[in-house]
Amino acid sequence: MFENLSDKLQRSFKTLRGQGTITDENVSDALREIRLALLESDVNLEVVKSLMERIREQAMGARVATALSPSEQIVKIVADELTNVLGKDTARFKFASQPPTVILMAGLQGSGKTTTSGKLAQWLKKGGHRPMLVSVDVYRPAAREQLAIVARATGANLYEGKLDPGTTPGTPEVLRLAKEARRDAANFGCDILIVDTAGRLGIDTALMDEMSELKKLLNPSEILFVADAMTGQDAVNSAKAFNDLLAITGAVLTKMDGDARGGAALSIRQVTGAPIKFLGTGEKPDAFEAFHPDRIVSRIMGMGDIATLLERAEEKLDRGKAETFAKKALSGEGFTLEDFREQLRQIKKMGSMKSILKMLPSVGPFAGMAQAAENVDEGQFTRIESIINSMTNKERHNADLINGSRRKRIAAGSGTSVQEVNNLLRQYGQMSKMFKSMGGGGGMKAQQRMMS
Ligand code: GDP
Repeated sequence: MFENLSDKLQRSFKTLRGQGTITDENVSDALREIRLALLESDVNLEVVKSLMERIREQAMGARVATALSPSEQIVKIVADELTNVLGKDTARFKFASQPPTVILMAGLQGSGKTTTSGKLAQWLKKGGHRPMLVSVDVYRPAAREQLAIVARATGANLYEGKLDPGTTPGTPEVLRLAKEARRDAANFGCDILIVDTAGRLGIDTALMDEMSELKKLLNPSEILFVADAMTGQDAVNSAKAFNDLLAITGAVLTKMDGDARGGAALSIRQVTGAPIKFLGTGEKPDAFEAFHPDRIVSRIMGMGDIATLLERAEEKLDRGKAETFAKKALSGEGFTLEDFREQLRQIKKMGSMKSILKMLPSVGPFAGMAQAAENVDEGQFTRIESIINSMTNKERHNADLINGSRRKRIAAGSGTSVQEVNNLLRQYGQMSKMFKSMGGGGGMKAQQRMMS
């Protein structure tokens, strides 16, 4: 997400590093590079123009000496202006005063509408709601089947409805299904109805008419436009067309995991006036986040996104297990390979290593971590786990038992090499020693010293 823009912006800030004051000359160089960074990231031209105007105005006004260096001043101005472009506050989700709240999903075919409907249902369920899903795509039976699969995967209720084989697909059928689904949601005690609609490859009048009819019938609290971030300005243009007709209440940007540029994200709100409400960051149902403009700006500016990382840890990690591990490891008793495997499993629950490292700031003590993310071998974790799985229970509890012939057996059993088994045992030995020295008296003594 945003890697290109982030790298390029940081390079442009470097132009000003080491400069004592902001002058016409040095600021113009930096501004030129910032403009280029935005354009190369596929940000809408009008958005770039107005953004640059505001940045220039403030940069010129910032010449008065402050405690901040010129490069720090520019970083702050750019961060503030990007936050303005994305919307200062996290957009709120609207609920109807009378349930069920209806959410109409809009977007082109392939944008990720069905996947997002499921993700949203799961997100709402976590928030204590009882969502129901319905697909009113009467044109493609496969689309309704796909939503049924998504509903099963997320454990959300689904209104299947009946489509008689003899009926001609069209708007009346769509409206009938939608009406029945709303009634069913109310009868079933579901407080939210998510309506997945038929997509098209491009914008056509039949689709738009149908969406307008659905809006009239359902009076939805939210009309979410689902946009594939990887299609950049095309996504922004279709968002505009849908917004002109339907007055969307928000956008969901999908496939952010594959979009290094971020042009759609930085343009959509300015062009439509509707805020981004969610991001899709992968194919799995939980690869979905509420959109927080300040956190995204922090990521773009290379400051990472510690808030999201902590939230993820809070949600996914088993606090009890982590505490038991820490106590055991620091007690001097040491930890076993079994504990080691459990820790790996815990970390894996938080997502790929790459996605974790990328949320760390690329400046300060974590410098280099985000870059290292590019070279992370995700398969390495699976291989380590297989190696530990191939050990006997006894071996996992007493690594000293693992001699040469056992190493050969473990390597063969896990489909790895003796060298990999050796590496793992060496790493485990080093960690074990480190924890013992931290905890086995040393840590306690240090603590006592601090307390006295
Ligand atoms: P629809 O035609 O708009 O309903 O689109 P689908 O929900 O069928 O999604 C189209 C494709 O995009 C599917 O292969 C999804 O798995 C994939 N997809 C959807 N959202 C994301 C996302 O956030 N990240 C990635 N990598 N793929 C996604």
